[in-house]
Formats: sequence, structure tokens, C-alpha cells
Amino acid sequence: MKISILGAGAMGCMMSGFLVKRHEVCLVDVWREHVDEINRNGLRIRFGGEVETVHPKAVTNPDDAKGADLVIVFVKSIQTAEAMEGAKVLLGGDTLVLSLQNGYGNDQDIRKFVPEKNIIMGTTDRAASVLGPGFVNNSGGRLIHIGPLGEDSSGAERTAAAFRECGLDTDVYDSHEVSAMIWDKLMINCANNALAAILDINTPQLADEPLSDLFKTLLRESVEVARACGLPFEYGVYEEKNYALLNSLAKEARTSMWQDVNKKRRTEIDRMNGAIVRLGREKGVPTPCSEMVVRLVHAIEKGYAA
Ligand code: NAD
Repeated sequence: MKISILGAGAMGCMMSGFLVKRHEVCLVDVWREHVDEINRNGLRIRFGGEVETVHPKAVTNPDDAKGADLVIVFVKSIQTAEAMEGAKVLLGGDTLVLSLQNGYGNDQDIRKFVPEKNIIMGTTDRAASVLGPGFVNNSGGRLIHIGPLGEDSSGAERTAAAFRECGLDTDVYDSHEVSAMIWDKLMINCANNALAAILDINTPQLADEPLSDLFKTLLRESVEVARACGLPFEYGVYEEKNYALLNSLAKEARTSMWQDVNKKRRTEIDRMNGAIVRLGREKGVPTPCSEMVVRLVHAIEKGYAA
């Protein structure tokens, strides 16, 4: 398969390390130093104690990637629309586009450029981080769940087969199941991600009182909004799920938003708690604590320039 990865940061690079084994992979990213390093010396990926070097093509200009059978979108959710606009040249009539991003609304952004029949959505528990130009860490996880945005799952099946050939554990679900999985991940992100960034703490600390009361309040608002949007979620299930997650993490684990704030990068807050606030307004569900968290993260982002 000819695969272009739009957004070759932590996740895009980590995935390319697997996919390059059997497919023609091209990384597309605006970060020139990173792209140059990959083309000069290869992409280094740390798997535990081992570092593997792989050689996907990397470009800053999507024109140089030409067409693709599959485009995997791995920019941050706040960058999806702009990245898709810039990468229209990658898209042919049959090009499949897959998003495994976090956050609410990636499907709506992609839909502006791609017919519904070609869009595949999904989630993964895989994780990665950028260590430097041309160097990423595979932080673990295993599963990839994908499914069509519409009714036809043939593109998702082809994609899953292509992923499995490279050792990526991938399952296909229908559009309703995969949408619920994206919402499910959103619930957990809304509970922890911003809070740990604002408080500047390791993620597992949120399990301790009194911080646990804060995540519970955000989680309760998010679940209420999800329910108003038609998802059959139960608050108690998510509270339990979040405790299990927090207790399973390494002591020093940090949320992605903590990492963004630490590097003074724009966060995905508007696609996480921000989306809960917007949808809450539409559905008449009050979300005062989520709104406060969104304002605090915006204030932190505004402070970067100072
Ligand atoms: P990242 O910031 O490491 O990578 C994003 C890349 O996109 C950057 O290299 C950036 O230069 C590039 N980019 C920005 N604008 C672009 C444009 N217009 N065109 C091309 N490239 C552009 O982000 P990440 O951690 O890899 O996360 C990507 C998505 O996956 C996010 O939605 C995140 O929430 C989700 N996710 C991350 C992890 C993780 O462990 N990092 C796990 C699961 C899901």
C-alpha cells in the first residue's frame, strides 16, 4: 500500500516504524529539521532498551509525496483542518483517510475534504513521544480499533489487513461502535488531561484525594454531555475505569496536555473539555467546571509569549 502519514510527530513516526516494513511510507510534516534528519540519517525509534532505525521517505511539501492509497492523519486535532487543506494533493478519488487522533470533531474536519465512504475513524492505546528531530520513543500500548465513518467497512478491512501484515494488532468495528470508542477515550481525556497540565502533576496523582474530586467533577459533566448526545454511558463505569487507568500508569507518567504546556505548544483543549462545553451548551447541560478548565488552559497558552 502507498501510505502517507500527515503529521509525523510522536504517533506518526512510531506508526511508520511498523508500516515501513511492508508498505511504501511517506511522512508529511511542516517541521523541516525533523524531516531533513529523517532523510539524512533515517528515523530512530526507541523500543524499550533498543533503538531501531527505519527509512521512510519524509517531505515538508505534500506535492512531493504525490498520491496515496491511504492517508493517516496524525496532526493534533486542532491542526486537522489546516493540514487537510494543505495536503489535498495527496487525495485521489479512492484514497482512504484514517484518523486515530484524540479529541472531538476530527471526522467533521476530514469530511470537508474527503467523501464519507473513504473516511475511517479509530482509537489506539498505543503511545509515543518525540525525543528530538528524527528520534521518537514507542511508549507502549498494543491495540488499534478502526471502523468506517459510514456504512461500508471495506476500506477499514483493507487498512486493518495492511496494518496486521506489519505486526499492528488491528480490529474492525462498525461506525456506531467506533464512534462510541472515540467518545469513550474523550471521557477519560476530559477527566485527566487538562487537570494534570494545570496542576503540573504526574497523572497518577489524580487518583489521590482531594485531586480525585476534581477529575470526578469533570468526568461527571463529560458523561452527562455524552448522554445528552445519545451515548449510553454510565458515570460509575467511567469513574471505575479512570481509577483503574490512573493506578496502572507509571508513577512519572504525564498527560499529553502536560507535555504540550511544558513545551509551550498549543494544546488540544478546544477539542477535549472545550468540545464538552460547546456540546453542553447545545444540549442544555451545564458544564461550569469544564468551562473553568478550558479558560485556565487558554490562560496558560496565552502566557507562553510572556
Ligand atoms: P505531535 O505533536 O507529536 O505530532 C504532530 C505533528 O504534526 C508535529 O510533528 C507537527 O509538526 C505536525 N504538523 C502540524 N501541522 C501540520 C500541517 N499543517 N501539516 C503537516 N504536519 C503538521 O502529536 P502526537 O503526540 O503524535 O499526537 C497526534 C494525535 O494523536 C493527537 O490527536 C493526539 O492526541 C493523538 N494521540 C497521541 C498519543 C501519544 O501517545 N502521543 C496517543 C494516542 C493518540
